[in-house]
Amino acid sequence: CGIVGYVGPRDSQAILIAGLSRLEYRGYDSAGIAVIDEGGHLGMRKRAGKLTVLRDDLSAHPMSDGTTGIGHTRWATHGGPTDANAHPHLADDDKLAVIHNGIVENYAALKAELVSEGHTFRSETDTEVAAVLLGREYEANGGALVAAFRATVARLEGAFTLLAVHEDHPGLVVGARRNSPLVIGLGEGENFLGSDVAAFVEHTRSALAIGQDEIVAITPEGVTVTDFTGHPVEVEPFEVTWDA
Ligand code: GLU
Repeated sequence: CGIVGYVGPRDSQAILIAGLSRLEYRGYDSAGIAVIDEGGHLGMRKRAGKLTVLRDDLSAHPMSDGTTGIGHTRWATHGGPTDANAHPHLADDDKLAVIHNGIVENYAALKAELVSEGHTFRSETDTEVAAVLLGREYEANGGALVAAFRATVARLEGAFTLLAVHEDHPGLVVGARRNSPLVIGLGEGENFLGSDVAAFVEHTRSALAIGQDEIVAITPEGVTVTDFTGHPVEVEPFEVTWDA
């Protein structure tokens, strides 16, 4: 339902939680974040319920912070609103975390394929199928995250905004979209992704709208946008003019 991503010099947890709070108006039933910490380890926390449940959990049991992360508020479509079904979802080796807005229409067929190959699942969501598939394609593409995204989106039907971080790629958030929105926020030495500009408007008003069937990679220094076949795409910047 709500999506936020951050790369830059600042601690990401507070930025992600504040972004999710700005997206609360859309409605949601669970919330979660994944952060690559200073030691290069991927940490994840996710809870059913309001954002305060996640916030309280993080203050009672702090998670190491880091400067790369993704956050999600979920509006359940496949699988009830439980901690396990909340996003992010991890690929097999727990190094890759994925968040998703929308519905993977062909998730049952993909899940059967992945189960037959020996992959296991920890939730009832359509999203976890995309996460496990991305993990498989990551391995098949020698650890190239954008190439893994290309191979993954080629298999997905339906609507998705997908964001991922991998602990072997600190300082990188990759996203893709089809039939579901995704916007880049351009900062100074930091960049943002959001399902809408509310996710980052308190940090920057300079934005880029990602077009249909495009993949974006953000680092602290810049952004790269390509189509689903890997060709570079020109993206028009715009200024967010409304009052946040
Ligand atoms: N279909 C996904 C789920 O049920 C994502 C829902 C959303 O857009 O929040 O987990």
